[in-house]
Amino acid sequence: GKGAAMVTAVAYRLADQSRQIAETLSEFRLTTEQLLEVKKRMRIEIQNGLSKSTQDSATVKMLPTFVRSTPDGTENGDFLALDLGGTNFRVLLVKIRSGKRRTVEMHNKIYAIPLEVMQGTGEELFDHIVQCISDFLDYMGMKNTRLPLGFTFSFPCRQTSLDAGILVTWTKGFKATDCEGEDVVGLLREGIKRREEFDLDVVAVVNDTVGTMMTCAYEEPTCEIGLIAGTGSNACYMEEMRNIEMIEGDEGRMCVNMEWGAFGDNGCLDDIRTEYDRSVDDFSLNPGKQRYEKMCSGMYLGEIVRNILIDMTKKGFLFRGQISETLKTRGIFETKFLSQIESDRLALLQVRSILQHLGLDSTCDDSIIVKEVCGAVSHRAAQLCGAGMAAVVDKIRENRGLDHLDITVGVDGTLYKLHPHFSRIMHQTVNELAPQCNVNFLLSEDGSGKGAALITAVGCRMRQEMNN
Ligand code: BGC
Ligand code: MG
Repeated sequence: GKGAAMVTAVAYRLADQSRQIAETLSEFRLTTEQLLEVKKRMRIEIQNGLSKSTQDSATVKMLPTFVRSTPDGTENGDFLALDLGGTNFRVLLVKIRSGKRRTVEMHNKIYAIPLEVMQGTGEELFDHIVQCISDFLDYMGMKNTRLPLGFTFSFPCRQTSLDAGILVTWTKGFKATDCEGEDVVGLLREGIKRREEFDLDVVAVVNDTVGTMMTCAYEEPTCEIGLIAGTGSNACYMEEMRNIEMIEGDEGRMCVNMEWGAFGDNGCLDDIRTEYDRSVDDFSLNPGKQRYEKMCSGMYLGEIVRNILIDMTKKGFLFRGQISETLKTRGIFETKFLSQIESDRLALLQVRSILQHLGLDSTCDDSIIVKEVCGAVSHRAAQLCGAGMAAVVDKIRENRGLDHLDITVGVDGTLYKLHPHFSRIMHQTVNELAPQCNVNFLLSEDGSGKGAALITAVGCRMRQEMNN
């Protein structure tokens, strides 16, 4: 009768709906062949970044860091460190003691960088940074000591020495004017001078990946790679000097900051990018740039999710077809929310209450779909990150002419630390795509700050040696 026909119609609609949802999410499911292809392309871009003839137009810039060795335990002294460019801005005092009982003691304070400072003028940004240092020195009662300082600055910098780095381009949420093309150590020194209140000796500018590698290498000498899977995404590793064509000399190794976030900016990932990736990119602060980062890192995963949810709502599959103001708001799905939503221990009711907390009224069915969407997006991110890492470890293995390589990667970042599945999927992908390497992942505790201090210690020692 009529009732049965209606039930059938509803059943058809639901079946069609779940087929369409599955179809959308299947675009995020990459096959092993596709991932191997991503690995291969990363390898090509690495080569382009290292070679003199292609370096100018290379997207993965492979920036020399002037860090020529990992720590050896003789590092010693008190250092200030700044950590700018991650989830938080921090100022740290790091006391490193060498000898039989090596110790590292740290004190730090977190400071907010208001949006209008992140996206204001360079002078305002650096005045704010110096203001925070001033507050920290007061807090520690150290205004009158001229400490050596290491500046962890988590953006692409073209370095000409340990203590000079020209900002290539802002990434993530930063867009302060008059900084790109400038030496950020110079900008910091000028800020300190403007304040006329204290003096500091800026010894090193350090990428967060490099700080992370150094921190892990201090405990574990096989660590020769650094990885950040956080707000942004990037890696560094110890490359053979003979392969770094932009730097004189063939002996030994130097750490190279890959800036792999820009992978794909020449279009080489276009076949796997979805319409959602394109719209996240189009509405970002830096359209067309950092395309791989926009598929892999915490600052953008939530945005991809949000774009998919909007599309599904438009099609009437979600939220009763109503696009709320909340759903229109950029940046609502922070890494911590995605991590909570995907936690296995969470009942659907709790997923609903998280969505409720964000201002999204969901039914039980909605919450199932939202969780699926989050899972598809973060799974792909972990696999893509793993494919990139597989390219790196195989490159190092070939550099050393080995059939088999044992190596450790020092890792940091909110996505890696907080997300319930990201790290496991990333590890599995590396194992699968680089079977000739045994890759051990070591979580860095406070990598950026400690690492900057370790590099500063080495920088001070080098300076003394040169003066003698
Ligand atoms: C920056 C890198 C940084 C990474 C992780 C990227 O956006 O370009 O320099 O290492 O984020 O913080
Ligand atoms: Mg950081």
